[in-house]
Amino acid sequence: MLMEDVMIQERPINVTRTSRSRITEVDFDNIAFGEVCADHMFTSDYYDGAWHDEQIIPYGEISFVPSISALHYGQSIFEGMKAYRHDDGHPTLFRPLMNHQRINRSAQRMAMPEIPESLFMSALTRLVSMDRDWIPTRDGASLYVRPFMFATEEYVGIRPATHFRFIIFTTPVSKYYSDPVKVLASEYYVRAFRGGTGTAKAAGNYGASMLPMMKAREIGYDQMLWLDGRNFDIIQEIGTMNVFFVIGDTIVTPTLANEDILDGVTRDSCIQLLRDEGHRLEEREVTITEVHRAYQEGNLREAFGTGTAATVAPITTIGYRGEDMILPLGRIADWLKNTLHGIKRGRIKDQYGWVYKVN
Ligand SMILES: *Cc1c(COP(=O)(O)O)cnc(C)c1O
Repeated sequence: MLMEDVMIQERPINVTRTSRSRITEVDFDNIAFGEVCADHMFTSDYYDGAWHDEQIIPYGEISFVPSISALHYGQSIFEGMKAYRHDDGHPTLFRPLMNHQRINRSAQRMAMPEIPESLFMSALTRLVSMDRDWIPTRDGASLYVRPFMFATEEYVGIRPATHFRFIIFTTPVSKYYSDPVKVLASEYYVRAFRGGTGTAKAAGNYGASMLPMMKAREIGYDQMLWLDGRNFDIIQEIGTMNVFFVIGDTIVTPTLANEDILDGVTRDSCIQLLRDEGHRLEEREVTITEVHRAYQEGNLREAFGTGTAATVAPITTIGYRGEDMILPLGRIADWLKNTLHGIKRGRIKDQYGWVYKVN
């Protein structure tokens, strides 16, 4: 049985509908990512060792006292996935059980409570189903779903919190942002190292990457291409995406074994699609030295990043030691993007059980 076929047990959720939907105020063809949120959100609180008060309420302000520990010590994690509508109007999610498993791995690393599958999946499907009219139907558009959890204990002392809130809200995305990206390989800033939090989707990882990203942008790049912090040679990933290189006739992507990159759902899906298409694909250590040499020898055919937000984004520039490696828009990235998109929209047969129908 495919993992995605597992039946999800429903949990009782209190529902309060908004009395005034904002949907007619939204220009779905023209919204920046994350600008407007859909009408409702899910919330649940963890205390006394269990999740309580599961509810769907109108999207809006939440209030806390200033001492809640997430704000000071950073126990805060998140997920991201997209809901689509198939041509028959049916809402779907892409491999949501992988996001569920990953939020629990992040929770474990950050000493936060796990979320039972029944809670995560009923919250997600009820919310997406209620706000299904917010899922844009235009090609390339989708509803971005943001589940997250943070420590809400009112206590300034340093110890793992005992109170948490889990929230899911959604925000419509009018188009792909898979514009080509220019990345900068830095030999100074570090994102992650084995034993750290690089494998967790932890808010703090992003907080720490803002300054390097800002500096990269000042000199014309979009994102960092992170290298290992010991020798600054082993390639890890891009700020928000996993990374793939086409070297000769082999596709190479950094291994998860070093425990310093995020285990992306898009990465995993791309690996499977590429292998099934007959490509030679290697998950292994790949160094910037190897990539640079391949570039000089004319063997670096293309490079691309993978992630839920952009799906597959071609990399057109890699800055390294004051030089730019300039790459063409590649055939493989383009094929992957179209194939993934086709599967998500129900236009290409989903032989993997990846598309999850929301009832
Ligand atoms: C979320 C994320 C990714 C992409 O993961 P997907 O599941 O494919 O969206 C890659 N790297 C980092 C650091 C991330 O936070």
